[in-house]
Amino acid sequence: MRYLCLALTALITVCGSVGADAIRQTKGDFRDAFRQLDVDLPTPNTYRTASGAPGSQYWQQRADYKIKARLDETSRRISASETITYTNHSPDTLRYIWLQLDQNRFTDNSLERLSETAKDAVGRKTWTEQDKDVLSYSTIARRQLAKDIDYGFEIERVVDAREKDLPHTITGTMMRIDLPQSLAPGQATTFSIDWSFNILLEERADSRGGYEHFRDNDTYIYFLAQWFPRLAAYTDYSGWQHKAFIGWGEFTLEFGNYEVEITVPDDHIVSATGKLQNPGKVLTSRQRQRLNAARNADSPVLIVTPDEALENEKEKSTGSKTWIFKADNVRDFAWSSSRKFIWDAMVHKQDDQKNPEVLAMSFYPPEAEPVWSKYSTHAIVHTMAVYSRFSFPFPYPTSQSVNTWKHGGMEYPMITFNGYRPEPFEFEKNDAGEDKPVKNAPDETYSRRVKYGLIGVIIHEVGHNYFPMIVNSDERQWTWMDEGLNSFLEYLAELEWEHEFPAYSPQVNVLDAISDYMVSEDQVPVMTNSESLLQFSPNAYSKPTAALIVLRETVMGRELFDFAFREYARRWKFKRPTPADFFRTMEDASGVDLD
Ligand SMILES: [Zn+2]
Repeated sequence: MRYLCLALTALITVCGSVGADAIRQTKGDFRDAFRQLDVDLPTPNTYRTASGAPGSQYWQQRADYKIKARLDETSRRISASETITYTNHSPDTLRYIWLQLDQNRFTDNSLERLSETAKDAVGRKTWTEQDKDVLSYSTIARRQLAKDIDYGFEIERVVDAREKDLPHTITGTMMRIDLPQSLAPGQATTFSIDWSFNILLEERADSRGGYEHFRDNDTYIYFLAQWFPRLAAYTDYSGWQHKAFIGWGEFTLEFGNYEVEITVPDDHIVSATGKLQNPGKVLTSRQRQRLNAARNADSPVLIVTPDEALENEKEKSTGSKTWIFKADNVRDFAWSSSRKFIWDAMVHKQDDQKNPEVLAMSFYPPEAEPVWSKYSTHAIVHTMAVYSRFSFPFPYPTSQSVNTWKHGGMEYPMITFNGYRPEPFEFEKNDAGEDKPVKNAPDETYSRRVKYGLIGVIIHEVGHNYFPMIVNSDERQWTWMDEGLNSFLEYLAELEWEHEFPAYSPQVNVLDAISDYMVSEDQVPVMTNSESLLQFSPNAYSKPTAALIVLRETVMGRELFDFAFREYARRWKFKRPTPADFFRTMEDASGVDLD
């Protein structure tokens, strides 16, 4: 992407500088602003072609999972076992395999903890020299939590298909399993792992999953993400992707099929990646009837009503139920469980013979009303309609939005965790750019900020189903490849939701919004590793978004850009692209020389 910006800068300044360059060219210090991209890109090969497409010998590994998990609500703990079948499609013989243990990020001696600086604790963006003796309350609370409670995976057993112990070594957020026999190309191996861990108190741990405690009525929402030992990616461009999880570079994974059995208290409602296999066992006949009605509905139908949810959260049942989900060809699995959930659903119809209907569903506590029932499920459907036009039809049976926290959002296949709840205040920015409450909103209403914040975060997180859940780029290395492409489509989808949508902030377009960052000393190339970005958000999100908008509106024009972008999505759907594959495809399919 930096090359695109370079070309643009050169375009703007070319008239004034061409004479000087022509003279410099004869002096030996000439640097051609239009030099060919291939100088900087990796050499094409049989796995990745010079046109940016998967090559004739493209390969990727496969990991299929069978998981049984139990949520212990009293001790707020997960106990689980999984059987993984790992298939080696690479041309290489493997003597060991690596798994990601993301929960280990929260142990007291984790690399994240040990490498945290005061700047990290205060927030890199707002850091000033005078902050150097200051730690925020939330930072101290986060550190204390890791001292008080043992977080991270407890790996209890690793065995092969014959129940024989497999030697394994844990190093931070990664685990190596040594194979008794080398895994030759084309072979598969099956092994099982038993584990447990204490669920994180999300509001203190600053994690992507955990539990939320509603203190007013002592109720909980559990949302489990990055919660099972997952196969690390093995690729043609980097071998094992086993860079430690330090907090920013989220992950990249292998595709596979999942069968997951989740045992929870029997008054809970569970939302999860995939399709529910045993509705007869876990839903009432009334809920099943409503769910069937939702499959034909063009506006949300309530499966669990607000009154039923309020009734449900009063009692605490001691029995349990097992919910069974299946998901095919996904790169991850996440779920959420609570007795607080209101549940609504409607159908998204699309022009696709293979998958003509997708069930869009939302799960939220009474505290999220009245804004969630109004917008969440509609926002899911809107996202699929817009994103599919720019890429490919949504390939999965469900698409879900779960309200798991007050702010923020996080994405997993078919399920997203989203923030925003009604707040009793309207907010306005003061002179220092801080949000300050300015007036009370009446009861049973919500601010503009909550409404658009909610719609925006749902579009963003559901959008991640396309990038990187299906176009499987490597976020541990290049955050911009999914956050940038996704924020660009989010921006378009928001403007299609409503022409005056406050996409960045009211009356500010994305190009104006990043000008401060573009001239700041913190700016680094988008290709910088995810953990090294000095300002994470502008570099990974708004800079590539701005570049793509310029590329679409100014350099290529919409017709050429949209064709090339769709071609990139089509080529790399369910495959693993690198940045060079994106740059090359955009040039190859548009016919515009981006060098
Ligand atoms: Zn994102």
